[in-house]
Amino acid sequence: MQNPFQNAMAQLDKVAKIKNFGEEFITHLRQPDRDIRISIPIQMDNGSLNIFEGYRVEYNNALGPYKGGIRYHPDTEINEVKALAFWMAIKCAVANIPMGGGKGGITVDPKKLSKGELERLSRGWVRRLSDILGPHKDVPAPDVNTTPEIMAWMVDEYMKLTGEKTGATFTGKPIENGGSEGRGEATGLGGFYVFDSLRAQIGLPEKCKVVIQGFGNVGGNAARIFAKNGHTVIAVSDSKSAIVKEDGLDLKKVETHKKETGSLKDFPGAKNITNEELLELPSDLLVPAAFENVITEANANSIKAKAVLELANGPITPEADEILFKKGIRVIPDVLANSGGVTVSYFEWDQNLKNEHWTEKQVFDKLKPMMEDASQKIFERAKENKTYLRMGAFILALERIKEKML
Ligand code: GLU
Repeated sequence: MQNPFQNAMAQLDKVAKIKNFGEEFITHLRQPDRDIRISIPIQMDNGSLNIFEGYRVEYNNALGPYKGGIRYHPDTEINEVKALAFWMAIKCAVANIPMGGGKGGITVDPKKLSKGELERLSRGWVRRLSDILGPHKDVPAPDVNTTPEIMAWMVDEYMKLTGEKTGATFTGKPIENGGSEGRGEATGLGGFYVFDSLRAQIGLPEKCKVVIQGFGNVGGNAARIFAKNGHTVIAVSDSKSAIVKEDGLDLKKVETHKKETGSLKDFPGAKNITNEELLELPSDLLVPAAFENVITEANANSIKAKAVLELANGPITPEADEILFKKGIRVIPDVLANSGGVTVSYFEWDQNLKNEHWTEKQVFDKLKPMMEDASQKIFERAKENKTYLRMGAFILALERIKEKML
């Protein structure tokens, strides 16, 4: 497995070669402000004690409080969390929201825990870190395998421990706990707005054939939104299975099938394929919406999509980026493509602090122009510097962070 933090730093090195930001600034960005490892002792349902390893990385807060999700996954480790925290700093700057970059996690397979164990673990994470969290210090949110319900436990624990009255320390909460309308769809919808803003400029047809890897909150919502807007979703996958149907999948039926059988496999009328095969299908748009490092040196040459929209964080390694660029495959980078999620998280924080509750329409009406503005600025930066969109995004973000740090 490639070290995601090394990949993130390789991206930083690359941008420093394209535009001169000064060595001191780049050196500063090579280290997080702090990275914290914690152990969380939990009493399991059978009475035994288990100790889990958890993390919070606070990367950079030049633009505002550290912001970023918490990931629960058996492979989660400090280098992954550091990379994700760095990307959050870039992402918040790209989205032009007053937030810095952070990320957290626990090394755990949450599917192996009972609900009670999961709740104790989540509350335990907050107990260890409550000193450094806060609406103006560090504001966590959901990420892979963490849900609004988990955010509700966490914010409850935080408020009990600190006496804080607003729920603004956590975002991605359920609506009844102060969550924002539209937060669930925000990442997929933001990705669609970005795609729609850049579609013609990157040479994609009006109606695209779309392949989506991942059918969770992000991938599932993205699939629905693309289909609703007249595009044809020909293939989707989850962690265990993948299916393809050339003339398009009926997503409502796919969802029902997954609910009933627990997997996408054997969906009537579709062909079962592997996750690897899914990535290599010919299409207009490939949307990795699951994990990092899925397009690497090993398979980049076999990618046949015309463009890639990165809804996952870090799905393409730096080596694969170069290969795709040479093949003329346009990549809309994660820090832009999935920034709708953190943007609506920022709206949630803002609503909590002002004691307001916006309608879904208000939320999406604010989100759309922000995504379009970021997309167009990045396109311009890439063009001016004769580079690809990821570097355009990094240039825009570093300009904004540097200005604040000075
Ligand atoms: N986990 C999401 C991301 O990677 C959202 C973070 C947030 O809302 O703070 O962008």
